[in-house]
Amino acid sequence: MKSPNAFLGSLPTTIFTTMSQLAMTHGAINLGQGFPDTEGPATLIDEAANALRDGRNQYAPLTGLPELREAVARASKRDYDLDIDPAQEVIVTSGATEALAVSLMALIEPGDEVVLIEPLYDTYLPVLRLLGAVPRCVRVEAPDWHLSEETLRDAFSDRTKLILLNSPMNPSGKVFTAQELDLIASLVLAHDCYAICDEVYEHLTFGVKHIPLMTRPGMRDRAIRIGSAGKSFSVTGWKIGYITACPALASVIAKAHQIIAFSSAPNLQRAVAKGLDLGEAFFAELSESLRARRDLFANGLNRLGFPTLPADGSYFVVADISAHAEGRDDVAFCRDLVTEAGVAAIPVSAFYDPHGAEPPRHLVRFAFCKTEAVLREALGHLERRFSLRRVETRSSCRLVRAARAAPLVAYLVAASRLFRKWGSVRRFLVGRPFRHHPLVSPVPQERPVDRPRYRDHWAATRRSEPDWQAGCA
Ligand code: PMP
Ligand code: GLN
Repeated sequence: MKSPNAFLGSLPTTIFTTMSQLAMTHGAINLGQGFPDTEGPATLIDEAANALRDGRNQYAPLTGLPELREAVARASKRDYDLDIDPAQEVIVTSGATEALAVSLMALIEPGDEVVLIEPLYDTYLPVLRLLGAVPRCVRVEAPDWHLSEETLRDAFSDRTKLILLNSPMNPSGKVFTAQELDLIASLVLAHDCYAICDEVYEHLTFGVKHIPLMTRPGMRDRAIRIGSAGKSFSVTGWKIGYITACPALASVIAKAHQIIAFSSAPNLQRAVAKGLDLGEAFFAELSESLRARRDLFANGLNRLGFPTLPADGSYFVVADISAHAEGRDDVAFCRDLVTEAGVAAIPVSAFYDPHGAEPPRHLVRFAFCKTEAVLREALGHLERRFSLRRVETRSSCRLVRAARAAPLVAYLVAASRLFRKWGSVRRFLVGRPFRHHPLVSPVPQERPVDRPRYRDHWAATRRSEPDWQAGCA
């Protein structure tokens, strides 16, 4: 029998599914796959449910229901001052995943080069590979996710067809600045190419504003903008995406959509149209609530010795595991984290081209789009496994012992008072000083705790004493 497609056959199951399955098997808190653990707005759910009952359950139009396309155009004007023609410039897709694939299909010929920025979302490279494109990956570097202008310039050539830009970025949480976007726009113009902009986290930014590349000079007809209802309304299972592009590009993208999905669930499209009209107040509340949860979780990680990297947008925060890795890379660490701490995370090396240069192996991604209670519980699990208080293992053992001995000490102190009294009586009677019993001699001064040194000591003992957890049982 002839074999099926070798490339797809060899593609591993996505890390998101792998980690979610591991989390389920071990009953761990799933901070791996990025999905909220609460429902989206009740008005949207009601709208979707009601829309199933009014007899419009057959195929939606190829480019999407008019009410959703109009809502996308209204939101583009309201949020970014973009004038979009809903009839010719919007295409509704089955999630941003399909939107990305059909946009790439619409632009790429085999052999075209595509500039990508690592770490990158895991569907980009396989789709490019299937289309016969040649990826040119540039990295934003930890710890500050800096984009080097020189490296980016070098990645562009006259063979470049497009750049695939994800901002706000998964997994880094980086939100590209106006200067960075202007640099990208100037390279797109200089090399007469296009930009596919994955903006699924457009409304999930914290203290900074998302700027679509499409709004920068010269980009209106060269940028393709992709949004996702899953992220904007906390309904990742709905898989409704929307593409905005100039008519010349949109008409070709529509052809790709026609042969891949053709159309998406009409009731969900109608609910998403209502959602987009919820407007600024709704998105401000969503991002504020996520910001608070990012802070809660990132601060907790920092306290436990996992320094976090800046995350101005998305569902994710990346943490440095070096202090706790004990020789493990990010993949091994995440696997152990599920079983040992009961928390699932995603190794950041999974977001790099497997055929490219060595990725960082000391970073893991946590999804903080969970309820505060769940995040606190996860921090509790991590604390039990990694608490910096265990830095002071020996000292806390001493403290515990001291606490246990407290009643005895109290008894001895009382006894000593009696002895002293008895001593005075003796002195009065016999005229000789009483010698203190060694047990009730003055309490030795507590040695001052040198915290930084103590931490080093802890790091060292953790390397040499794998069973350190049992130390203070
Ligand atoms: N792009 C990025 C950067 C993502 O993180 C995701 C996953 N949410 C997607 C695209 C896919 O979005 P959707 O679920 O709408 O297909
Ligand atoms: N976008 C989600 C994440 O990054 C995962 C989506 C998926 O599982 N395909 O976690």
